[in-house]
Amino acid sequence: MRRDVRVDGVVQGVGFRPYVHALATRLELAGRVGNDVAGVFVEVEGAPEAVGEFLTALQRDAPPLARIEHVRVTEAAPSGAARFEIAPSDAAGVRNTLVSADSATCADCVRELFDPADRRYRYPFVNCTNCGPRFTIVRDIPYDRPLTTMAGFDMCGPCRAEYDDPGDRRFHAQPTCCPDCGPRLSLAAAADPLADAVRRLRNGEVLAVKGLGGYHLAVAAFHPIAAATLRARKHREDKPFAVMTADVDQARQLCFVDGESLSDLTGHRRPIVLMPRRDGTPIAAAVAPGNRYLGVMLPYTPLHHLLLRDLGEPIVLTSGNLSEEPIAYRDAAPLAGIADAVLDHDRPIHIRTDDSVVRAGALLRRSRGYAPEPVTLTRRCRRPVLACGAELKNTFCLAKDSRAFVSHHIGDLENMQTYRSFTEGVEHFSRLFEITPQVVAHDLHPEYLSTKYALGLDGVELVGVQHHHAHIASCLADNREPGPVIGVAFDGTGYGTDGTIWGGEFLIASLHGFERIGHLAPVPMPGGAAAIRQPWRMAAAYLGDTVESWRPEWNAVVAMAAKGVNSPVTSSAGRLFDAAAALLGVRDEINYEGQAAVELEQLADPGVADGYPVRVDELIVQGVDLLHGIVADRAAGIEPPVIAARFHNGVAAAILAGCRQARDRSGLDTVALSGGVFQNVLLTTRAVNLLANNGFRVLTHRRVPTNDGGISLGQAAIAGA
Ligand SMILES: [Zn+2]
Ligand SMILES: [Zn+2]
Repeated sequence: MRRDVRVDGVVQGVGFRPYVHALATRLELAGRVGNDVAGVFVEVEGAPEAVGEFLTALQRDAPPLARIEHVRVTEAAPSGAARFEIAPSDAAGVRNTLVSADSATCADCVRELFDPADRRYRYPFVNCTNCGPRFTIVRDIPYDRPLTTMAGFDMCGPCRAEYDDPGDRRFHAQPTCCPDCGPRLSLAAAADPLADAVRRLRNGEVLAVKGLGGYHLAVAAFHPIAAATLRARKHREDKPFAVMTADVDQARQLCFVDGESLSDLTGHRRPIVLMPRRDGTPIAAAVAPGNRYLGVMLPYTPLHHLLLRDLGEPIVLTSGNLSEEPIAYRDAAPLAGIADAVLDHDRPIHIRTDDSVVRAGALLRRSRGYAPEPVTLTRRCRRPVLACGAELKNTFCLAKDSRAFVSHHIGDLENMQTYRSFTEGVEHFSRLFEITPQVVAHDLHPEYLSTKYALGLDGVELVGVQHHHAHIASCLADNREPGPVIGVAFDGTGYGTDGTIWGGEFLIASLHGFERIGHLAPVPMPGGAAAIRQPWRMAAAYLGDTVESWRPEWNAVVAMAAKGVNSPVTSSAGRLFDAAAALLGVRDEINYEGQAAVELEQLADPGVADGYPVRVDELIVQGVDLLHGIVADRAAGIEPPVIAARFHNGVAAAILAGCRQARDRSGLDTVALSGGVFQNVLLTTRAVNLLANNGFRVLTHRRVPTNDGGISLGQAAIAGA
């Protein structure tokens, strides 16, 4: 019998055809496999049991990098083929198949890397169909070597033979190469760049290291002076650095690694995984000052493997950039004032991608290893969509039919370099996925550069999407739900439809629209942006006129707020967390976004079950009640970890109270939680448990971040609908 099979998804450049060839050959089936416009086609014929087994195994045993979205099987008349073949691909016909994300070096390649008998022994660019660079080296589609940054490297005879052999694990591996024909390392004039790099790290020097998506800055993680030097030169005050360890054992010496974190650490995407750190490790103080978590990643390129093994201890590995600029990727010139030397190579990076970040299984930054993998939408877009995202943690999203391509992390659109990265990224994605947007979605904030970009486009239909509606729609799209739901959108800042700053919102929302049914009681933000940088201002704004001020500087701020001078009104949950952190003495000033809330969460004692009571009337949450609770407990001498926990539990209870009132009003019992505040694992866990115990079905994020990095997906889903 014969069956024809169509496979859609990420099935190109991931070893899918050789895999099918091997499977069919093993089962003694005849037929062929090939690429075409829509993906991969397979024709198999032979004994019915063997065909049946083939169909069962096809998806189950697919190569690790394949992302199968859809398999369709149809009956056909046997052709009498004698053997199984790989059909030559028609280059013009494969444009619709998907470019896969970059992938960490696979176990087979690591084995070769450290095998003295292998011809790629200690070669820093070893890769195969199951691993290596993809998205970051693709200039255009189809994904074929001449259209990648490997175009300048002519394959040698042995590499060509592997590339052409369907039975070889390098069959059609576009970036394949070897010491004879591939890229080379360099470090100034050093004869042995790797040995020189290791020596410099041991000496405490700051090294720039070219990676997959850009340059990193590296220092020995146990070297106190080196870590402090890096921090000083990068002008980065408190934001923690990530660390790379050689293996899981080394990671366990630094952190408590649970099962979920272990699978993220060791998977082929290789994000930075935030984990609770152990006390008393030799990690230098300047790596993650005052932080109870440490971001750890395992090597994901052969160069990392070599560097870590030769050095014998972990390194700090942080994005190669000056404080707020995007990561350097074309050359290391922007790092001249920071790095003492550059461990460089000559394989160009076409598009920059930062490392992705995960905590407790949730994505905080979705970039290298994830992008440009699409999210499948529940509903097809009738017209192609571009969603421009938000301002901070910007991503954009291009959507066509039922696929939404969320970009890699672009960053904060606050300087021209990041903005250029955004516009170039949009053009690159448009070309790569052949999407010419007809509908363009943007935030309502008139001053966001992403909004201005959208408004400057000609010949497209513009759709303004409210920030918190986009958050809830993002959570819906993430969970493939159409809504309507009760949406709880808690974050720092988002432009409201009434011109005030929202951020503690209860919505009834679907992809088609939303109604704001509740929120945190608004307070002034004395000094505007200054109130974000200085959390004590929010404590003053909340409590200034209700209790005796115990700091003289409050008076001026309270007067400012009372007069309404430079004091925009906000219902932001982020600002409520800031006020709580300031009252607890956690932090009066912040050095990076969300720092006060991060530290407040880390301070909280998770064993404390009770929380401060909060009035929630007509879906208006009196956040000030929580702050009165803190003041009273402080006066009673209660320990700060208990107070911080009671605050978190109080916020979770307020979310439940709001959702119950929303359920009474709407009859809905599904809740979607979204917004940067839900990066807080303690709060999210408490809120989810409370809601579930009270009969709610709860949706949280899984495939895109809950923070503003997920906004573009929500905008696209709304515009598409
Ligand atoms: Zn490999
Ligand atoms: Zn070669």
